[in-house]
Amino acid sequence: MQRELVAEPKLHAHVVSVGTSVDDGVIDRWWTLAETLAAMEGGEHFYTIGSESKMLARVRPSVCPLCLHDLIGSTGEAVADNNLESLPSV
Ligand SMILES: [Zn+2]
Repeated sequence: MQRELVAEPKLHAHVVSVGTSVDDGVIDRWWTLAETLAAMEGGEHFYTIGSESKMLARVRPSVCPLCLHDLIGSTGEAVADNNLESLPSV
């Protein structure tokens, strides 16, 4: 997962690309934000998996609450470690 900082309207981070893996934990493709959104529009499904819980969370298009940019987010708020926001930045 790669993030970039956005300074306006206040300093915050956007997810700009995500790595996906078919096999456990080995990233075999990096997707930009635009590729991810286009693929989701085309019917692809993305999930995050918790490193501890092994729970899947669906990744969905979302909108940044601060600057209203199109972004991606995950729906796994109930489980801390599969939330997109809790994945490590690289
Ligand atoms: Zn933003």
